Amino acid sequence: MAFKLPDLPYAFDALEPNIDARTMEIHHGKHHGGYTDKLNAAIAGTPLEGMKIEDILAQVSKHGGAVRNNGGGYYNHCLFWEIMSPNGGGEPTSQMNISKAIDRDFGSFEHFKNEFAAAATTVFGSGWAWLCVDKKDKLSICSTPNQDNPLMDVNNLEGTPILGLDVWEHAYYLNYQNRRPDYINSFFNVINWHEVTKRFNNANAGASNL
Ligand code: MN
Repeated sequence: MAFKLPDLPYAFDALEPNIDARTMEIHHGKHHGGYTDKLNAAIAGTPLEGMKIEDILAQVSKHGGAVRNNGGGYYNHCLFWEIMSPNGGGEPTSQMNISKAIDRDFGSFEHFKNEFAAAATTVFGSGWAWLCVDKKDKLSICSTPNQDNPLMDVNNLEGTPILGLDVWEHAYYLNYQNRRPDYINSFFNVINWHEVTKRFNNANAGASNL
């Protein structure tokens, strides 16, 4: 059973002007499509075929660079498309558990936003910024290089990613050139807090301390 490139949950131009249609089309079709094809080629005929991507990433240190880079690229972009929406942005409402958790763990939404933006801004070269939830429902922010993510057993990071921002130049260069901070700012206009809350609630289903 090969991994499949998921359709975008909205049109290529749906996130404009925050993310332009051409970037979305190339990013989804060429970049995510490429990771998907290369992941399938890397696992073809191996015991990894048929495994869940999360399970492959959890023991990725046992496998070669092709599985690490393309497995991460496959998973990371699947998450990325879903945690954005043309109806997104703003702050999570007080009815959403994630809102209470952000206030508890960062002090305020503003503090969370500043810390996440700083993590994304300071990734050197290509990588991702993440908001993760640990087994006790505590939130934390981190970043990873290349297509690594916190699910992998290679970076000494723990937690389930529930929000991620791609800061590879391919994610923003056509529209923003070298202005990564402007792209990061625009990302906050399209975050799908319903999806982030869903992922927060599902990460430790039934074990919430809130
Ligand atoms: Mn990307």
